Amino acid sequence: MLAWALRAVSELPATKAVASSSMYRTVPVDCPPGSPDFFNAVAELRTELTAPDLLRALNGLEALAGRERPYRNAPRTLDLDLLLYGDARIDSPQLTVPHPRMYERAFVLEPLREIAPTLVQGMERIGLQD
Ligand code: ADP
Ligand code: MG
Repeated sequence: MLAWALRAVSELPATKAVASSSMYRTVPVDCPPGSPDFFNAVAELRTELTAPDLLRALNGLEALAGRERPYRNAPRTLDLDLLLYGDARIDSPQLTVPHPRMYERAFVLEPLREIAPTLVQGMERIGLQD
């Protein structure tokens, strides 16, 4: 699924994947008993899409992957989040960038560190605050 997603993202209009992390497996937290493990990865993109257009395109790929949203934090086939968009700060009802929960999620920071170590070091130096 992640390999499919990476290829699908790099085939979006005016978008290229320039780096991607390996896959990180984590056990489910705050999920019903017996929920499957999660797999996470981070990719760096070059795109001419605006951030809202990119999020809409990512949501479209989630839908293609058969994602449904029965309840908050439900197990999902695919979750594509926009962590950062250059150095933009965005605060709209549909989109917050930097992603508000990325700093507290090891399953985000570890793959991000793999492709952008200096960026994560900088975040750690300022105390993981946005
Ligand atoms: P989560 O990714 O937090 O597990 P969802 O994928 O269900 O949860 O996303 C919930 C909502 O978060 C989406 O409707 C989307 O509009 C919003 N959202 C806000 N900022 C972002 C972002 N940076 N990346 C992805 N979704 C975002
Ligand atoms: Mg999401």
